[in-house]
Amino acid sequence: MSIMSHPDETGRFGEFGGRFVPESLVGACIEVEQFFTKFWADEEFRQEYAEILSSYAGRPTPLTEAHRLSEHLGVRVFLKREDLTHTGSHKINNVIGQALLTKKMGKSAILAETGAGQHGVATATAAALMGLKCRVYMGEVDVERQALNVFRMRLLGAEVVPVSSGSKTLKDAVNEAMRAWVSEIDETHYCIGSVMGPHPYPYMVREFQRVVGEEASAQFERLVGGSPDVVIACVGGGSNAAGTFSGFVDSPARLVGVEPEGGAAIAKGSPGVVHGMRSQLLQDEFGQVEEAVSISAGLDYPGVGPEHSYLASLGRAEYRCAGDEEVLEAVTTLSRLEGIIPALEPAHAVAYLLREAGKEIPLGSTVVLTMSGRGDKDAEVVAKLLADRLS
Ligand SMILES: *Cc1c(COP(=O)(O)O)cnc(C)c1O
Repeated sequence: MSIMSHPDETGRFGEFGGRFVPESLVGACIEVEQFFTKFWADEEFRQEYAEILSSYAGRPTPLTEAHRLSEHLGVRVFLKREDLTHTGSHKINNVIGQALLTKKMGKSAILAETGAGQHGVATATAAALMGLKCRVYMGEVDVERQALNVFRMRLLGAEVVPVSSGSKTLKDAVNEAMRAWVSEIDETHYCIGSVMGPHPYPYMVREFQRVVGEEASAQFERLVGGSPDVVIACVGGGSNAAGTFSGFVDSPARLVGVEPEGGAAIAKGSPGVVHGMRSQLLQDEFGQVEEAVSISAGLDYPGVGPEHSYLASLGRAEYRCAGDEEVLEAVTTLSRLEGIIPALEPAHAVAYLLREAGKEIPLGSTVVLTMSGRGDKDAEVVAKLLADRLS
């Protein structure tokens, strides 16, 4: 059986995962698990999901051979183009799956929390498509910082609730969303945005992202034959990486997840419990969760999905870091060599590739790299940082 098949009945991947939530939420998680298990085994649900991904989200996305980058590096690089999906990132795969599940559960509303706003916008998009009410919790600080995404969510018909407790950022929004879910569980589904949280979310979100890896491995087989030598994806919570890896985990390919230097939960963290799961996380000697710092808002999360902690403990996947400076370099290089402006998150994967081609990645290797999203959303940040360097 594949290493990435199913967690055990308590939702554990080895010693990681599980369901560490208050008693009041256990029943809700079990309900999600039961419905997901039922519908994921249902051919009709699968077809409906696949049909929406194709006619609405733009799947399958291409696997693009990056010829000039390949020549530059001396390795043969293929990019899995999640940046070409509707809304511009792999997040759409997950939110469409969960919104469809919400309807099948007979519920009329969906709620989510968001930090930078990307998951909020994706959730609001899927809710609009399916005629669901949508409420997004967002820290007050983030509401101010991400005015454009707040506008997008409202335009899409979602209610955005600014959270003023605690540090007024993502973790406070998570607490508020959980509280709201408990009080309206009959009509509302809670949509988590990555392979994180209590069971079944890490498993369910990975299954909804599995399409990325399955397409990529079939496309590679057609274009080149066999399996690539190395598969690379960036890791925030770890959903695009988990989806990508699931298509290659049973092949001989080396799997590499790339975390930001300032948020390297696997490379620099230790096991602990956060947001309903046991996983690797950044914490101080007293078990206080530490803030992650990165130029990429989508990656500055102090924890990581439990299945990545498990794959790391087995040695099946390896996790590396990329720093802000080399990430900016990667944005420029990919833009100029391929005409593809990457989001800052996948630019971490590109930075690792640029640094290690000819070293950890032997010359002549074949590489599949997941381009998880397009760079438009980061243009302002990147413009500021690169202003005096571009001519
Ligand atoms: C949100 C986001 C990520 C990080 O999320 P994962 O769950 O780690 O995939 C990566 N890339 C893009 C483009 C994103 O929007």
